[in-house]
Amino acid sequence: MSETMTHAAVLILLGPPGAGKGTQARMLEERFGLVQLSTGDLLRAAVAAGTAAGMAAKSVMESGGLVSDEIVLAILRDRMAEPDTAKGVILDGFPRTPGQAEALDALLADQGLKISAAISMEVDDAAMVERVSGRHTCEGCGEGYHDSFKQPAQAGRCDKCGGTAFKRRADDNAETVGARLTAYHASTAPLIAYYAARDVLRSVDGMGAIDAIAAELGGIVAEVTA
Ligand code: AMP
Repeated sequence: MSETMTHAAVLILLGPPGAGKGTQARMLEERFGLVQLSTGDLLRAAVAAGTAAGMAAKSVMESGGLVSDEIVLAILRDRMAEPDTAKGVILDGFPRTPGQAEALDALLADQGLKISAAISMEVDDAAMVERVSGRHTCEGCGEGYHDSFKQPAQAGRCDKCGGTAFKRRADDNAETVGARLTAYHASTAPLIAYYAARDVLRSVDGMGAIDAIAAELGGIVAEVTA
């Protein structure tokens, strides 16, 4: 059963590709009954569905650049309008630019909401290439795995749903990760100061064990949503 909250939480996970935002967002989702909102997942779904936004985003994503604020904001607004987000959201991979951060502030203000915390996951860039290069997810339930760091208990079978099909992202390769890290430092890292100035910044050491990071993050979420 999930823990109770007195108001809709809006949590932001900040960190470069490979920091563990998606893994941790899924764990927080289960523990607190929040909804993970990953603009990367939404964009990949748009690419797979062949929508106009997806077609415009595809080549940018493959090169490791950032999709335009206009496209990302339209996708985010649509998702935030769905009723399940009323419980609270964990934003994973959004905002990624100062323009997106300002648009989010305006969107939340319209709904009488505010950011509960923006949590920066502190990691070493040098470790991110290996982390990203080996990762894959279960096609059935989306559970994440890694060739070196998190293999299923039984080889080739998902621990969660028993599925046997796994997929890897087209942009999870050593060449593209470099461009994604560059985009992170140029456009997204400045948001750390943006949220510090608004007194909502928290940070966790993202280099430890998955469960230790989850415990630390859970403590922050419990505190800011109490
Ligand atoms: P992610 O799954 O968060 O690693 O995102 C994968 C790719 O989708 C990124 O490298 C970008 O090309 C694009 N993307 C995801 N979220 C955003 C965003 N908030 N702003 C711009 N581009 C994004």
